[in-house]
Amino acid sequence: MEYIFSLEFIYIIASVTYILGLKMLGHPETARKGNLIAAAGMTLAILGTIFLYKGEHVNSTIYILIAVAILIGTIIGWMIAKKVAMTKMPELVSLFNGMGGASAALIGLIEFHHYTGDKLSVFTIIAGMVIGSISFSGSMVAWAKLNGTMNKPIRLPKYNILNNVFFLLILAFAAYVILSGSDSQLYIYLLFFAALAYGILFVIPIGGADMPVVISLLNSFTGLAAAFGGFLYGNMVMLTGGILVGSAGTILTFAMCKAMNRPLSNVIFGAFGEGAVAAGTGSTIKGSIKEASASDVAILMNYAKKVIIVPGYGLAVAQAQHAIHELEQLLESKGVEVKYAIHPVAGRMPGHMNVLLAETNVEYDKLAEMDDVNPEFQSTDVVFVVGANDVVNPAAHNDPTSPIYGMPILDVENAKQIIINKRSMKPGYAGIENELFYNNKASMLFGDAKKMIQALINELKNM
Ligand code: NDP
Repeated sequence: MEYIFSLEFIYIIASVTYILGLKMLGHPETARKGNLIAAAGMTLAILGTIFLYKGEHVNSTIYILIAVAILIGTIIGWMIAKKVAMTKMPELVSLFNGMGGASAALIGLIEFHHYTGDKLSVFTIIAGMVIGSISFSGSMVAWAKLNGTMNKPIRLPKYNILNNVFFLLILAFAAYVILSGSDSQLYIYLLFFAALAYGILFVIPIGGADMPVVISLLNSFTGLAAAFGGFLYGNMVMLTGGILVGSAGTILTFAMCKAMNRPLSNVIFGAFGEGAVAAGTGSTIKGSIKEASASDVAILMNYAKKVIIVPGYGLAVAQAQHAIHELEQLLESKGVEVKYAIHPVAGRMPGHMNVLLAETNVEYDKLAEMDDVNPEFQSTDVVFVVGANDVVNPAAHNDPTSPIYGMPILDVENAKQIIINKRSMKPGYAGIENELFYNNKASMLFGDAKKMIQALINELKNM
């Protein structure tokens, strides 16, 4: 019985909930529950640590400070998370991730002088602090880029070389501090500020559009920094949590790069999506586009046997998820088979479309993954591309000079009719034109996604 109320036991339970939660996040049907389970485990670990940890410094003042900090943090976190729009989620993740990095860095700052002389501990402290500081300042820059405060990449001359040299200098200085056994607080502050500066220099040259990948990478840094903290304190749950965040972030980073067919080096050092096509400068693609009205499209859909909807970032911007679900149900009631084709990097964060559609309780078996749905386009009467652009751009197959060449796409060109809903001819995330719009089977349905879907629903109801 005593063991059940021991901190070790609570930590084991918490660690299991993290692993279980992470596993459940892998599928839209279980993701919500997985999130709650892992959050419950985290709460248990925090409460267990507060009430069961028996350290020499524990006294009532500490409890008051902890309670006040938790209260402030909970209120701020709750309010921000409650208000945030789905399209702003990457911003929120980067802000929260930055806080994790800052916490890991602060552990290093306050613990350094407690461990001088013990080289392994000093190494752990410095590693956690340097990585945490980079993650903190890098995440803050990423956040500023995503919310538009910092809207242009800043590239100093030879920035790649300079950044690498600066990083090597930080490593060399860190090695000196560890090996010298110095207890100089000045050294640790120098390292702290240098790491903060490196985090900024690392992220400022990267284009705003690549921030989701960068955030995922910084997320893995934060996990690693927390794991060093767990190792230092011999705190198993912190170690497990840190390792899980670190590895999940790394896997996610590479999964995103793979889905975009871009090496990580291209994300970090490339200049993706910039200067390719300035919006509104006219097309370089020969041919003309066809425009369709809501009633034209409604007729096509009404008489179709099979319609596949391709949602993209624009669906999230328009907050048209409920409208599209209503359209899907209406078509089904008319005997039309309807499916959603989900591209792995549609939207601006991994699983963006799944999360968006889950809000409306779309049946999960209607969401088809790219590889499963691609062979189906041939037998599809109407494909309805809603606010998606890059993920259906044939340049990924046909144009070796295109920045998205090699990226797997949804082969909507194979469908009998292609309807594309967007507001203008402006490019998407990659900043490039889309020859799909000029395909002779394609028609453009211009307008805000929510408004146009609503117009389609009204037309269909009158048929
Ligand atoms: P895109 O960004 O390529 O295109 C979105 C389109 O939506 C735009 O062309 C825009 O055109 C249209 N749009 C915007 N607002 C609305 C609206 N209110 N109503 C209707 N249409 C609208 O999005 P995709 O989803 O096709 O592709 C995602 C891109 O993001 C890929 O290049 C991917 O690599 C990248 N990416 C994805 C990440 C992820 O994890 N999901 C992470 C990092 C990058 P218009 O302005 O004319 O309306």
